[in-house]
Amino acid sequence: MGHDGLDMSIQFLPGVGPKRAALLKKELGVETAGELLRLYPFRYIDRSSFVRIADARPDMAYVQIRAQVLRVEMHDMRRMSVWIGDGSGEMETVYFKGIKWMQEKLTVGSEFVFFGKPTAFNGRVNLVHPEVDAVSVAGSGSTVTGGMTGVYTSTEKLKNAGVTGKAMTKMMETALERCLGYVEESLPEYIMRQCGLVPIHFALRNIHFPKDMQALEKAKYRLKFEELFYLQLSLLKQKYVRSRGEHGIQMPRVGEEFNRCYESLPFPLTGAQKRVITEIRNDMKSGHQMNRLLQGDVGSGKTMVAVLSALIAIGNGYQACIMAPTEVLAQQHFKNIQKFLAPTGVRSALLTGSSKTSERREVHAGLEDGSIGIIVGTHALIEDNVIFRNLGLAIIDEQHRFGVEQRSKLWRKSTCGAPPHVLVMTATPIPRTLAMTLYGDLDVSVIDELPPGRKPVQTIHATDGKRPALYKFMKDQIALGRQIFVVYPLINETEKLDYQSLEAGAEEIIRNFPFPPYKTAVVHGKQLNDVKQFNMDAFAAGRADILIATSVIEVGVDVPNASVMVIESAERFGLSQLHQLRGRVGRGSEKSYCVLMTGHKLSKESRHRIELMCATENGFELAEEDMKMRGPGDLEGTQQSGLPISLNIASIAKDGLILNAARDCADAVLKEDPTLHSDRNQLLRKELRKDKYQIKDYSKIS
Ligand code: ADP
Ligand code: MG
Repeated sequence: MGHDGLDMSIQFLPGVGPKRAALLKKELGVETAGELLRLYPFRYIDRSSFVRIADARPDMAYVQIRAQVLRVEMHDMRRMSVWIGDGSGEMETVYFKGIKWMQEKLTVGSEFVFFGKPTAFNGRVNLVHPEVDAVSVAGSGSTVTGGMTGVYTSTEKLKNAGVTGKAMTKMMETALERCLGYVEESLPEYIMRQCGLVPIHFALRNIHFPKDMQALEKAKYRLKFEELFYLQLSLLKQKYVRSRGEHGIQMPRVGEEFNRCYESLPFPLTGAQKRVITEIRNDMKSGHQMNRLLQGDVGSGKTMVAVLSALIAIGNGYQACIMAPTEVLAQQHFKNIQKFLAPTGVRSALLTGSSKTSERREVHAGLEDGSIGIIVGTHALIEDNVIFRNLGLAIIDEQHRFGVEQRSKLWRKSTCGAPPHVLVMTATPIPRTLAMTLYGDLDVSVIDELPPGRKPVQTIHATDGKRPALYKFMKDQIALGRQIFVVYPLINETEKLDYQSLEAGAEEIIRNFPFPPYKTAVVHGKQLNDVKQFNMDAFAAGRADILIATSVIEVGVDVPNASVMVIESAERFGLSQLHQLRGRVGRGSEKSYCVLMTGHKLSKESRHRIELMCATENGFELAEEDMKMRGPGDLEGTQQSGLPISLNIASIAKDGLILNAARDCADAVLKEDPTLHSDRNQLLRKELRKDKYQIKDYSKIS
């Protein structure tokens, strides 16, 4: 680490020193001046204007108040109220964390600048955990023009060590002064020109110390664009390389088995199903390895597509596997595909964690000698002792439950010298921008059409007061011969509280729906598999009117006669999960209902979710909203698969337009120069060689 340039340790910046430098490394991961320059403000505040306490309203996004500390009230050491006044009025500020530290700082009579989001409490406006700065920070600073000051991430430890907002600003100022000149332009001239991007020096200067609003926007756009551009370039490059490579099992034929199955289908395929099967078929015969993501809402008929794809592999002399995330789902898949496979004569088998040793041995042998054509299973399929004769197609259902490492294990199961084709199916609609990033290296097929005859599901929001009416409604439905799901939230399978709510709820339902004549079944994750299966089967076969369950039924369960889905404590579920659950009804020909039960008091966000659920059945719309509300990292299903690289400034949720532009640009570059060997693309090649772009390509066998 040198004393100048981007590698300079930040300890050499004025006012930092070895101690603070070590702390900055520990708390923020920043070690060098170059890294410091890439620590962007997460917010800008207009330090030039203050709001009077009397004028603060709860609907303001934030307020900056300059006021004196009037008095401090401690509430049992866990909450501290600090009353402040500015002549126009008094306001309470509330602290739950770092109380000791705040108490020492906020001495009565001293003046501070308080910055935060006003909230309404007991008919008054207060500030919860405002940022508190010395008055001198506000409106000062030589570089602060246009009134905007960047706010950087900080921690209590940093603040305690004197690394305040003001200190950060100072540090950044010197770092820019001394090191900006060393930062090299990271985008080729022609791309900056084509895409209207400002140079890197302008961007870095203005992201930290914006000259004005417009300069800040330009800086942000450039930095976000660059980040998304390189991400897309690296993903697309993988795709280009793969589609030009020869490395894939060629499956030129459709085969007898496919045709026999197709001809005996009890229904015509939807247009979307046909289109998707054609896409898959073309991939499989191309001689390149297929890596395709199949997205389709619950009930869109993905199973059918999976079966027909598997039969293509069979028709070319290969085996296929279908891997599901849970035992119940694997069993259900296995059961469902039997009727389609019957006319084909293909031998299929099931392999899960609870397969008996003797069955297991038989299945292992059948896979090894090739007599089993299609194997359905869980993680048990990727165990080391499972050996295929010639696996040609791996279908992974509900992919989000699998980590990438597990996927790659499956890839390696192939013994025919080329990787198996891969079809990943997901029923969790993923917003386009997120799909482009999570699966940017995959081809994407979408089934955007439901089989005909589906009736829309009427979604109703109700609170506890409506319970008697709900029970009456449920009884009417049962009298009509329909079945009902009642679902309780089970966010954490081991959480005691959740089980209590399920148990209490089940008791109440059973009390209100006594046997005879009503029959109820209960299913949850803690039951033994046999018990779970028995209860699930009872409901599926119509021997129970009501299935009381935790979210284990979230995916896959297909009971067309079930026409009512009651979701208890619906506010505790995310949008995607609610949507998945609702997808369990509306599969038959009867009118279906989804009842969302919630408490009376709902947070703004919960209310928004519930209202959206009542307003639309479009899974993609809901997923978009979910992503906007919770961010892509918290979206159902994305935690495990994760973003291929972490983004510093761009947001997949919010920067969709920039992402599209960056993707288009990357695509155009690669179309012209797939290997990036032309002179003007040398910079791109160099950048992609950096560690962070070494995204693992799990579609390849190592
Ligand atoms: P997904 O797995 O996408 O949620 P499924 O494959 O389980 O959906 O299909 C849902 C239901 O629709 C099943 O009962 C299936 O037999 C039926 N189905 C599938 N394709 C069609 C079609 N083209 N026409 C009518 N029904 C269909
Ligand atoms: Mg399914």
